[in-house]
Amino acid sequence: TNNRAYNFNAGPSALPLEVLEKAQKELVNFNDTGMSIMELSHRSKDYEAVHNNAISRLKSLFAIPDNYEIVFLQGGASLQFTMVPMNFLTADKTASYVLTGSWSEKALKEAKLFGQTGEAASSKKNKYRNIPSIEEIKFNSDDAYVHITSNNTIYGTQWKEFPSTGDVPLVADMSSDIFSRPVDVSKFGIIYAGAQKNLGPSGVTVVIIRKDLLEKANTNIPTMLKYTTHVDSNSLYNTPPTFGIYMLGEVLKWIEEIGGLEAIEKHNEEKAKVIYDVIDNSNGFYTGHATVESRSLMNITFRVADEELEKQFLVEAKAAGFVGLNGHRSVGGCRASTYNAVPFEACQALANFMLDFQRKHQ
Ligand code: PMP
Repeated sequence: TNNRAYNFNAGPSALPLEVLEKAQKELVNFNDTGMSIMELSHRSKDYEAVHNNAISRLKSLFAIPDNYEIVFLQGGASLQFTMVPMNFLTADKTASYVLTGSWSEKALKEAKLFGQTGEAASSKKNKYRNIPSIEEIKFNSDDAYVHITSNNTIYGTQWKEFPSTGDVPLVADMSSDIFSRPVDVSKFGIIYAGAQKNLGPSGVTVVIIRKDLLEKANTNIPTMLKYTTHVDSNSLYNTPPTFGIYMLGEVLKWIEEIGGLEAIEKHNEEKAKVIYDVIDNSNGFYTGHATVESRSLMNITFRVADEELEKQFLVEAKAAGFVGLNGHRSVGGCRASTYNAVPFEACQALANFMLDFQRKHQ
Protein backbone atom coordinates (compact mmCIF):
# COMPACT_ATOMS: atom_id res chain seq x y z
CA THR A 1 0.00 0.00 0.00
CA ASN A 2 2.17 2.87 1.21
CA ASN A 3 4.81 3.79 -1.36
CA ARG A 4 3.56 1.13 -3.78
CA ALA A 5 3.46 2.46 -7.34
CA TYR A 6 0.48 2.23 -9.66
CA ASN A 7 2.30 -0.40 -11.68
CA PHE A 8 0.94 -1.03 -15.17
CA ASN A 9 4.13 -2.60 -16.53
CA ALA A 10 3.72 -5.22 -19.27
CA GLY A 11 6.13 -7.66 -17.65
CA PRO A 12 7.91 -8.03 -15.38
CA SER A 13 4.96 -6.52 -13.64
CA ALA A 14 3.14 -6.09 -10.35
CA LEU A 15 3.34 -8.88 -7.78
CA PRO A 16 0.91 -9.24 -4.87
CA LEU A 17 2.05 -7.13 -1.92
CA GLU A 18 1.20 -9.98 0.48
CA VAL A 19 3.57 -12.28 -1.42
CA LEU A 20 6.38 -9.74 -1.44
CA GLU A 21 5.98 -9.16 2.28
CA LYS A 22 5.98 -12.87 3.04
CA ALA A 23 9.10 -13.38 0.92
CA GLN A 24 10.73 -10.49 2.72
CA LYS A 25 9.90 -12.00 6.10
CA GLU A 26 11.28 -15.39 5.11
CA LEU A 27 14.22 -14.07 3.17
CA VAL A 28 17.06 -14.41 5.65
CA ASN A 29 15.90 -17.56 7.41
CA PHE A 30 13.63 -19.81 5.38
CA ASN A 31 11.73 -22.45 7.34
CA ASP A 32 14.29 -22.39 10.18
CA THR A 33 17.07 -23.54 7.89
CA GLY A 34 19.25 -20.57 8.81
CA MET A 35 19.45 -19.79 5.11
CA SER A 36 17.45 -17.98 2.49
CA ILE A 37 15.61 -20.03 -0.10
CA MET A 38 18.26 -18.86 -2.57
CA GLU A 39 21.02 -20.45 -0.51
CA LEU A 40 19.42 -23.89 -0.18
CA SER A 41 20.59 -26.80 -2.27
CA HIS A 42 18.11 -27.62 -5.01
CA ARG A 43 18.51 -31.24 -3.85
CA SER A 44 17.52 -30.47 -0.24
CA LYS A 45 14.27 -31.61 1.39
CA ASP A 46 13.27 -28.01 2.13
CA TYR A 47 13.64 -26.95 -1.48
CA GLU A 48 12.04 -30.12 -2.77
CA ALA A 49 8.89 -29.35 -0.80
CA VAL A 50 8.73 -25.84 -2.29
CA HIS A 51 9.25 -27.24 -5.79
CA ASN A 52 6.63 -29.96 -5.50
CA ASN A 53 4.11 -27.66 -3.82
CA ALA A 54 4.39 -25.23 -6.70
CA ILE A 55 3.72 -28.05 -9.16
CA SER A 56 0.74 -29.40 -7.23
CA ARG A 57 -0.74 -25.92 -6.88
CA LEU A 58 -0.42 -25.36 -10.64
CA LYS A 59 -2.16 -28.66 -11.19
CA SER A 60 -5.06 -28.10 -8.83
CA LEU A 61 -5.71 -24.41 -9.56
CA PHE A 62 -5.63 -24.86 -13.34
CA ALA A 63 -7.44 -28.24 -13.11
CA ILE A 64 -4.70 -29.90 -15.17
CA PRO A 65 -5.76 -33.47 -16.04
CA ASP A 66 -3.56 -36.42 -15.04
CA ASN A 67 -2.43 -37.07 -18.59
CA TYR A 68 -0.34 -33.87 -18.57
CA GLU A 69 3.16 -33.14 -17.28
CA ILE A 70 4.24 -29.82 -15.80
CA VAL A 71 7.81 -28.57 -16.10
CA PHE A 72 9.74 -25.48 -15.09
CA LEU A 73 12.22 -24.31 -17.69
CA GLN A 74 14.44 -21.30 -18.28
CA GLY A 75 14.99 -19.24 -21.41
CA GLY A 76 11.60 -17.53 -21.27
CA ALA A 77 8.68 -18.05 -23.59
CA SER A 78 11.12 -17.13 -26.36
CA LEU A 79 12.97 -20.42 -25.94
CA GLN A 80 9.63 -22.22 -26.23
CA PHE A 81 9.27 -20.65 -29.69
CA THR A 82 12.27 -22.86 -30.54
CA MET A 83 11.69 -25.90 -28.33
CA VAL A 84 8.17 -26.57 -29.59
CA PRO A 85 9.20 -27.03 -33.25
CA MET A 86 12.53 -28.60 -32.32
CA ASN A 87 10.70 -31.33 -30.42
CA PHE A 88 7.59 -31.73 -32.55
CA LEU A 89 8.15 -30.52 -36.10
CA THR A 90 9.89 -32.84 -38.54
CA ALA A 91 11.00 -32.03 -42.09
CA ASP A 92 8.06 -33.93 -43.60
CA LYS A 93 5.39 -32.18 -41.48
CA THR A 94 3.76 -28.79 -41.37
CA ALA A 95 3.11 -26.68 -38.30
CA SER A 96 0.29 -24.17 -38.62
CA TYR A 97 0.49 -20.81 -36.87
CA VAL A 98 -2.29 -18.34 -36.19
CA LEU A 99 -0.76 -14.88 -36.45
CA THR A 100 -2.22 -12.39 -33.99
CA GLY A 101 0.77 -10.19 -33.26
CA SER A 102 4.51 -9.86 -32.92
CA TRP A 103 4.89 -12.78 -30.52
CA SER A 104 3.15 -15.19 -32.89
CA GLU A 105 5.36 -13.90 -35.70
CA LYS A 106 8.41 -14.60 -33.60
CA ALA A 107 7.16 -18.09 -32.78
CA LEU A 108 6.59 -18.78 -36.49
CA LYS A 109 10.04 -17.51 -37.41
CA GLU A 110 11.65 -20.18 -35.22
CA ALA A 111 9.44 -22.97 -36.55
CA LYS A 112 10.63 -22.19 -40.08
CA LEU A 113 14.07 -23.42 -39.05
CA PHE A 114 12.77 -26.94 -38.48
CA GLY A 115 10.16 -27.80 -41.09
CA GLN A 116 7.30 -26.51 -43.18
CA THR A 117 4.94 -23.97 -41.75
CA GLY A 118 1.54 -22.66 -42.64
CA GLU A 119 -0.46 -19.60 -41.71
CA ALA A 120 -3.64 -20.97 -40.13
CA ALA A 121 -5.12 -17.47 -40.01
CA SER A 122 -3.85 -13.94 -39.54
CA SER A 123 -5.19 -10.57 -38.45
CA LYS A 124 -2.10 -8.71 -39.64
CA LYS A 125 -4.00 -6.88 -42.39
CA ASN A 126 -6.25 -5.46 -39.69
CA LYS A 127 -3.20 -4.19 -37.76
CA TYR A 128 -3.71 -7.07 -35.33
CA ARG A 129 -6.81 -5.39 -33.91
CA ASN A 130 -8.73 -8.66 -33.67
CA ILE A 131 -8.51 -12.37 -33.06
CA PRO A 132 -9.53 -14.35 -36.18
CA SER A 133 -12.83 -16.17 -35.84
CA ILE A 134 -12.69 -19.89 -35.10
CA GLU A 135 -14.16 -20.57 -38.58
CA GLU A 136 -11.29 -18.79 -40.31
CA ILE A 137 -8.65 -21.11 -38.91
CA LYS A 138 -7.24 -23.47 -41.55
CA PHE A 139 -4.99 -26.43 -40.91
CA ASN A 140 -4.54 -29.99 -42.12
CA SER A 141 -5.43 -33.09 -40.18
CA ASP A 142 -1.82 -34.33 -40.42
CA ASP A 143 -0.20 -31.10 -39.18
CA ALA A 144 2.41 -31.41 -36.45
CA TYR A 145 0.44 -28.87 -34.39
CA VAL A 146 -1.50 -25.61 -34.51
CA HIS A 147 0.03 -22.72 -32.59
CA ILE A 148 -1.81 -19.75 -31.09
CA THR A 149 -0.99 -16.85 -28.76
CA SER A 150 -3.83 -16.67 -26.24
CA ASN A 151 -3.23 -13.03 -25.32
CA ASN A 152 -1.37 -10.51 -27.43
CA THR A 153 0.56 -8.38 -25.01
CA ILE A 154 1.52 -5.69 -27.52
CA TYR A 155 -1.76 -5.26 -29.43
CA GLY A 156 -4.08 -5.92 -26.50
CA THR A 157 -6.20 -8.71 -27.94
CA GLN A 158 -7.22 -11.99 -26.31
CA TRP A 159 -8.87 -15.22 -27.43
CA LYS A 160 -12.30 -15.59 -25.82
CA GLU A 161 -12.85 -19.17 -26.99
CA PHE A 162 -10.35 -21.67 -28.28
CA PRO A 163 -10.56 -23.75 -31.45
CA SER A 164 -11.04 -27.50 -31.30
CA THR A 165 -8.27 -29.01 -33.36
CA GLY A 166 -9.17 -32.69 -33.03
CA ASP A 167 -6.16 -34.96 -33.28
CA VAL A 168 -3.82 -32.09 -34.12
CA PRO A 169 -2.27 -30.79 -30.91
CA LEU A 170 -3.15 -27.20 -30.10
CA VAL A 171 -0.14 -25.32 -28.73
CA ALA A 172 -0.67 -22.05 -26.88
CA ASP A 173 1.66 -19.32 -25.76
CA MET A 174 -0.24 -18.13 -22.67
CA SER A 175 2.54 -15.89 -21.38
CA SER A 176 0.38 -12.87 -20.80
CA ASP A 177 -2.87 -14.36 -19.58
CA ILE A 178 -2.12 -17.68 -17.93
CA PHE A 179 -4.00 -18.04 -14.61
CA SER A 180 -6.08 -14.94 -15.31
CA ARG A 181 -9.15 -17.10 -15.97
CA PRO A 182 -10.14 -20.77 -15.99
CA VAL A 183 -9.15 -22.63 -19.16
CA ASP A 184 -10.12 -26.09 -20.42
CA VAL A 185 -6.60 -27.52 -20.45
CA SER A 186 -7.77 -30.70 -22.19
CA LYS A 187 -8.16 -28.71 -25.44
CA PHE A 188 -4.41 -28.21 -25.60
CA GLY A 189 -1.39 -30.34 -26.39
CA ILE A 190 1.03 -27.80 -24.94
CA ILE A 191 0.60 -24.61 -22.93
CA TYR A 192 3.63 -22.49 -22.13
CA ALA A 193 4.12 -19.19 -20.35
CA GLY A 194 6.88 -17.06 -18.94
CA ALA A 195 6.10 -16.39 -15.28
CA GLN A 196 6.81 -12.67 -15.21
CA LYS A 197 3.29 -11.36 -15.80
CA ASN A 198 0.78 -13.36 -13.80
CA LEU A 199 2.81 -15.96 -11.95
CA GLY A 200 5.94 -14.53 -10.40
CA PRO A 201 9.31 -13.02 -11.25
CA SER A 202 11.07 -13.53 -14.58
CA GLY A 203 13.36 -16.52 -14.95
CA VAL A 204 10.85 -19.36 -14.80
CA THR A 205 8.81 -20.66 -17.71
CA VAL A 206 5.92 -23.04 -17.05
CA VAL A 207 5.24 -25.71 -19.66
CA ILE A 208 2.20 -28.01 -19.49
CA ILE A 209 2.43 -30.84 -21.95
CA ARG A 210 0.24 -33.82 -22.78
CA LYS A 211 2.02 -37.08 -22.04
CA ASP A 212 1.29 -38.87 -25.32
CA LEU A 213 3.11 -36.12 -27.25
CA LEU A 214 6.32 -36.83 -25.40
CA GLU A 215 6.49 -40.31 -26.87
CA LYS A 216 6.46 -38.84 -30.38
CA ALA A 217 9.04 -36.13 -29.74
CA ASN A 218 12.23 -35.88 -31.78
CA THR A 219 15.12 -37.55 -30.01
CA ASN A 220 18.11 -36.32 -31.96
CA ILE A 221 18.25 -32.91 -30.32
CA PRO A 222 20.31 -31.39 -27.48
CA THR A 223 19.60 -32.82 -24.02
CA MET A 224 18.66 -29.51 -22.42
CA LEU A 225 16.20 -28.74 -25.22
CA LYS A 226 14.27 -32.01 -24.96
CA TYR A 227 11.06 -31.84 -22.96
CA THR A 228 11.57 -35.45 -21.89
CA THR A 229 14.81 -34.54 -20.11
CA HIS A 230 12.93 -32.18 -17.82
CA VAL A 231 9.81 -34.32 -17.48
CA ASP A 232 11.86 -37.38 -16.52
CA SER A 233 13.73 -35.47 -13.82
CA ASN A 234 10.78 -33.49 -12.39
CA SER A 235 12.46 -30.27 -13.64
CA LEU A 236 15.57 -31.07 -11.59
CA TYR A 237 17.86 -32.26 -14.39
CA ASN A 238 20.04 -29.27 -13.66
CA THR A 239 19.74 -26.38 -11.22
CA PRO A 240 16.29 -24.81 -11.55
CA PRO A 241 15.59 -21.11 -10.83
CA THR A 242 14.80 -21.88 -7.21
CA PHE A 243 13.83 -18.41 -6.00
CA GLY A 244 11.50 -17.88 -8.94
CA ILE A 245 9.80 -21.22 -8.34
CA TYR A 246 9.37 -20.35 -4.65
CA MET A 247 7.77 -17.03 -5.62
CA LEU A 248 5.55 -18.73 -8.17
CA GLY A 249 4.32 -21.11 -5.47
CA GLU A 250 3.52 -18.17 -3.19
CA VAL A 251 1.67 -16.33 -5.96
CA LEU A 252 -0.40 -19.46 -6.59
CA LYS A 253 -1.20 -19.67 -2.88
CA TRP A 254 -2.36 -16.06 -3.04
CA ILE A 255 -4.62 -16.88 -6.01
CA GLU A 256 -6.06 -19.81 -4.06
CA GLU A 257 -6.73 -17.59 -1.08
CA ILE A 258 -8.65 -15.02 -3.07
CA GLY A 259 -10.90 -17.72 -4.50
CA GLY A 260 -9.10 -19.31 -7.45
CA LEU A 261 -9.39 -18.58 -11.14
CA GLU A 262 -13.13 -17.84 -11.26
CA ALA A 263 -12.65 -15.13 -8.66
CA ILE A 264 -9.55 -13.79 -10.40
CA GLU A 265 -11.38 -13.65 -13.72
CA LYS A 266 -14.25 -11.68 -12.24
CA HIS A 267 -11.80 -9.31 -10.60
CA ASN A 268 -9.92 -8.87 -13.89
CA GLU A 269 -13.18 -8.13 -15.73
CA GLU A 270 -14.08 -5.43 -13.22
CA LYS A 271 -10.62 -3.88 -13.41
CA ALA A 272 -10.55 -3.76 -17.20
CA LYS A 273 -14.11 -2.44 -17.36
CA VAL A 274 -13.40 0.78 -15.46
CA ILE A 275 -10.70 1.67 -17.97
CA TYR A 276 -12.51 0.51 -21.12
CA ASP A 277 -15.59 2.44 -19.98
CA VAL A 278 -13.57 5.66 -19.94
CA ILE A 279 -12.31 4.94 -23.47
CA ASP A 280 -15.79 4.05 -24.76
CA ASN A 281 -17.46 7.08 -23.22
CA SER A 282 -14.81 9.58 -24.30
CA ASN A 283 -16.41 10.53 -27.64
CA GLY A 284 -13.24 9.63 -29.47
CA PHE A 285 -10.83 11.46 -27.16
CA TYR A 286 -9.42 8.00 -26.38
CA THR A 287 -9.62 5.18 -28.92
CA GLY A 288 -8.98 1.54 -28.18
CA HIS A 289 -6.68 -0.36 -30.54
CA ALA A 290 -8.48 -3.70 -30.30
CA THR A 291 -11.95 -4.40 -31.65
CA VAL A 292 -14.43 -4.68 -28.80
CA GLU A 293 -14.97 -8.45 -29.21
CA SER A 294 -11.24 -9.18 -29.09
CA ARG A 295 -10.28 -6.87 -26.25
CA SER A 296 -7.81 -8.18 -23.73
CA LEU A 297 -8.51 -8.11 -20.01
CA MET A 298 -4.76 -8.02 -19.45
CA ASN A 299 -3.36 -5.34 -21.78
CA ILE A 300 -5.54 -2.32 -22.51
CA THR A 301 -4.15 -0.57 -25.59
CA PHE A 302 -5.38 2.86 -26.60
CA ARG A 303 -4.47 6.13 -28.29
CA VAL A 304 -5.16 9.72 -27.39
CA ALA A 305 -6.78 11.36 -30.43
CA ASP A 306 -4.12 14.02 -30.85
CA GLU A 307 -0.47 13.01 -31.06
CA GLU A 308 0.86 15.96 -29.06
CA LEU A 309 -1.79 15.41 -26.41
CA GLU A 310 -0.82 11.75 -26.26
CA LYS A 311 2.75 12.69 -25.43
CA GLN A 312 1.46 15.05 -22.79
CA PHE A 313 -0.85 12.35 -21.43
CA LEU A 314 2.07 10.00 -20.94
CA VAL A 315 4.21 12.69 -19.30
CA GLU A 316 1.45 13.76 -16.93
CA ALA A 317 0.47 10.19 -16.11
CA LYS A 318 4.05 9.43 -15.19
CA ALA A 319 4.25 12.53 -13.03
CA ALA A 320 1.03 11.44 -11.29
CA GLY A 321 2.63 8.14 -10.34
CA PHE A 322 1.35 5.80 -13.06
CA VAL A 323 4.13 3.49 -14.22
CA GLY A 324 4.41 1.60 -17.50
CA LEU A 325 1.70 3.26 -19.60
CA ASN A 326 3.78 3.68 -22.75
CA GLY A 327 2.77 1.31 -25.51
CA HIS A 328 5.33 -1.24 -26.69
CA ARG A 329 8.22 0.46 -28.46
CA SER A 330 7.22 -1.22 -31.74
CA VAL A 331 3.70 0.30 -31.86
CA GLY A 332 3.65 3.39 -29.63
CA GLY A 333 0.43 4.66 -28.09
CA CYS A 334 -0.62 3.78 -24.58
CA ARG A 335 -1.03 0.48 -22.81
CA ALA A 336 -2.20 -0.36 -19.31
CA SER A 337 -1.35 -3.90 -18.29
CA THR A 338 -3.79 -5.01 -15.63
CA TYR A 339 -2.45 -8.43 -14.67
CA ASN A 340 -3.75 -10.42 -11.71
CA ALA A 341 -1.76 -8.57 -9.06
CA VAL A 342 -2.71 -5.06 -10.22
CA PRO A 343 -5.29 -3.93 -7.66
CA PHE A 344 -8.70 -2.57 -8.61
CA GLU A 345 -7.79 0.71 -6.88
CA ALA A 346 -4.92 1.24 -9.33
CA CYS A 347 -7.31 0.76 -12.29
CA GLN A 348 -9.87 3.08 -10.72
CA ALA A 349 -7.17 5.69 -10.13
CA LEU A 350 -6.07 5.45 -13.75
CA ALA A 351 -9.67 5.74 -14.97
CA ASN A 352 -10.11 8.89 -12.85
CA PHE A 353 -6.86 10.31 -14.14
CA MET A 354 -7.97 9.69 -17.74
CA LEU A 355 -11.31 11.41 -17.09
CA ASP A 356 -9.57 14.42 -15.55
CA PHE A 357 -7.10 14.64 -18.40
CA GLN A 358 -9.92 14.57 -20.94
CA ARG A 359 -11.87 17.24 -19.06
CA LYS A 360 -8.82 19.53 -19.02
CA HIS A 361 -7.80 19.07 -22.63
CA GLN A 362 -10.88 18.37 -24.68
N1 PMP B 1 4.97 -14.33 -25.69
C1 PMP B 1 4.22 -13.32 -25.20
C2 PMP B 1 2.74 -13.33 -25.45
C3 PMP B 1 4.83 -12.30 -24.48
O1 PMP B 1 4.10 -11.29 -23.99
C4 PMP B 1 6.23 -12.32 -24.28
C5 PMP B 1 6.96 -11.28 -23.47
N2 PMP B 1 6.37 -10.09 -23.31
C6 PMP B 1 6.96 -13.38 -24.83
C7 PMP B 1 6.29 -14.37 -25.51
C8 PMP B 1 8.45 -13.47 -24.66
O2 PMP B 1 8.67 -13.88 -23.38
P1 PMP B 1 10.12 -13.98 -22.72
O3 PMP B 1 10.61 -12.59 -22.55
O4 PMP B 1 9.82 -14.69 -21.43
O5 PMP B 1 10.96 -14.79 -23.62
